[in-house]
Amino acid sequence: MSATAPQDEQLWRDLVAAHDARPARDIEPERHQAPHVALLTCSDARIADNGLRGTADNEVFSIRVAGAIPNDEVLASLAFAVVALAVPLVVVMTHQRCGAISGAIAARAGLRTDAADAMLAGVEQYLPPELSEDDAIEHMARSGTTTMRRQLAEVCASTGTVMPTAIAALIDHDTDEILTVE
Ligand SMILES: [Zn+2]
Repeated sequence: MSATAPQDEQLWRDLVAAHDARPARDIEPERHQAPHVALLTCSDARIADNGLRGTADNEVFSIRVAGAIPNDEVLASLAFAVVALAVPLVVVMTHQRCGAISGAIAARAGLRTDAADAMLAGVEQYLPPELSEDDAIEHMARSGTTTMRRQLAEVCASTGTVMPTAIAALIDHDTDEILTVE
């Protein structure tokens, strides 16, 4: 059995060609990393590349994982952004109709599938019972921010780093607006 199907290899070549063909003005910011914000958001394809439309690629230290869950690897990346890159602002941003969060809620209701099990196990632990999907999305942003703040407080204290401002937010896909929830 081949590791990759020919059509998938072609898809990758097309993606690389599109990447290499982008305008020079888009390439220049990639030379120098200068993030103002560390952003944890979902991997959902509706969200912009670095999480925030209207920013250059080098402005956002972006961490993306399904459900925007603040797991240990995510927290380590955030700590790196704050300590090594002196990022003054950290944001946890969930989004409307998040498949990871709605999947976790469905799994609780007994609609679990084998394929989703591994991912949902990671999301479920951050969701208290009896939340509607809308409430859960807001809750995930708030609780992720609280977890992040607690972890960063320790790291900043031990390294003598200034504690960044921490904000919770969510994206409304109907209007493409970002709402600050905290
Ligand atoms: Zn999502």
